[in-house]
Amino acid sequence: MAVPKSKITRSKRGMRRSHDSLVGGNPNECSNCGELRRPHHVCGACGHYDDREVVVLAEEVDFDDEAA
Ligand SMILES: [Zn+2]
Repeated sequence: MAVPKSKITRSKRGMRRSHDSLVGGNPNECSNCGELRRPHHVCGACGHYDDREVVVLAEEVDFDDEAA
């Protein structure tokens, strides 16, 4: 089994971890509903992309046809 040759000091550990923080996204406002959405992604709130509805959300679908 590989064993570390020497102890990593608090300083060296901190230097390594200085680049580990997560950065926030760069959200844009949806042009349809104004909700924040990720760039180049379909809006999660209304299913629109590039001013078109590309995903019909479940709450908008009428399920009555399947009951017959
Ligand atoms: Zn939207």
